[in-house]
Amino acid sequence: MEIYRSLKNLQHDLLLKKTTCQQQVETYLQRIKDFKSLNAFIETFDTEAIHTAGLIDAKIKNGEPLGKLFGLVIGIKDVICYKGHSVTAASKILEGYVSVFSSTVVERLLAEDAIIIGRLNCDEFAMGSTNEHSVYGPTKNPIDERLVPGGSSGASAVAVKAGLCLASLGSDTGGSIRQPAAFCGIYGLKPTYGRVSRHGLIAYGSSFDQIGPMANNVYDLAIIMEVMAGKDDYDATASSNEVPPYTSLLDQEKKYAIAYYKDAVEHPSIHPEIRNTALQLIQRLKELGHEVVPVDFKEIDYIVPAYYVLTTAESSSNLSRFDGVRYGYHAKNAQDLDSTYTMTRSQGFGKEVQRRIMSGTFVLSAGYYDAYYSKAQKVRQLIARATLDTLKKYDFILCPTTPTPAFPIGEQVDDPIAMYLGDIFTVQANLVGVPAISLPCGQTQQGLPIGMQFMSNKFEETKLLTFSHQLMANLNN
Ligand code: GLN
Repeated sequence: MEIYRSLKNLQHDLLLKKTTCQQQVETYLQRIKDFKSLNAFIETFDTEAIHTAGLIDAKIKNGEPLGKLFGLVIGIKDVICYKGHSVTAASKILEGYVSVFSSTVVERLLAEDAIIIGRLNCDEFAMGSTNEHSVYGPTKNPIDERLVPGGSSGASAVAVKAGLCLASLGSDTGGSIRQPAAFCGIYGLKPTYGRVSRHGLIAYGSSFDQIGPMANNVYDLAIIMEVMAGKDDYDATASSNEVPPYTSLLDQEKKYAIAYYKDAVEHPSIHPEIRNTALQLIQRLKELGHEVVPVDFKEIDYIVPAYYVLTTAESSSNLSRFDGVRYGYHAKNAQDLDSTYTMTRSQGFGKEVQRRIMSGTFVLSAGYYDAYYSKAQKVRQLIARATLDTLKKYDFILCPTTPTPAFPIGEQVDDPIAMYLGDIFTVQANLVGVPAISLPCGQTQQGLPIGMQFMSNKFEETKLLTFSHQLMANLNN
């Protein structure tokens, strides 16, 4: 059975009756079994997915109106709630927990005839860059199973790359959609903060988190965004700005002004082959008639520290609700309330999550609040100002998605600082709240994918997607 890499092609063939939604679901379910060693899906919703597919097939047969996403078989990261289904944030502490409501994104996907095939592995509570911090064990990179796929939405990238579903949803607090997209050679978009509702997303850092699509091409990202984005009565931070018809605006040829950071391309941490890919891309963009200009970004060395002070603080507060009383795991031999809290949280949270809760509690504590938390908030403002100033003058900021390609499983697991520094190019978009896309723009001599990132101003997804669509058509020809 053919594996589709584009929703447009699939929908075309579905209408011509060359394939059916049920055949698609069955093919993917089989492939998920065949590629079990990747450890991407935690659970598949077989009966339900086949049933939904059957309903859509009947609509096609009867010529009934179809939703925009008809036939789209999609996997969701295990931090997105789907009523009646388990959701655990890849953590022991949510063992056995079943969602009592669906996230807004899930409801919107289903309303447009998407088929949710299962939930995908990730780093525990979306904290990590490798998908190694999961109670279900690490997910493997399909290009080379000895390597990490990136994280925290590692399995969401793996599932798309390995053809286990047509697209997936990830969440991105500091790069979790873009970095695994780069490590696996697929496309990923982190929307503007507030563009997509967070209702039903298990929170990590609430002023940073966004749900976003991961797919094989820009059109698929755009159509999923069209369906998911928009105001939501359940999330006061979801913007009521109108959602543009992204897909019908993709085919515009325009010339843009693009800034790139010399400090990023010349940064000592960057892998030489990634630097070369960035320089070649800059050259290519100029040949295509865009204006590409180097600009300064003096704040670059402050972005990772500011991000980790603020997100650990927010996570320590968000994760305080997991206490063994309300839901999920409960330490069996606890004797009173205090030992219930202590034992449940010590046994239920993994090492990385505990590290972050403790750092976050520390930076928020009375004696250190001003020195860390409040200072990091000021740094966030400075970074936002510098970034938005650049985005007033230029349409996009170009920068590699990651300083290195995918690395071996186990290499950084005991070195949190090295792992955190790998987020140097992605956290900026979350600190500022702007949208950012990672595009597969090349590979190393060893054949490892290289992702390039473009950021634009807030709510400029149309421009970002249109430009990316154009650029990839040029690069792939
Ligand atoms: N790697 C980053 C972190 O560990 C980003 C995670 C994310 O975006 N959820 O915090």
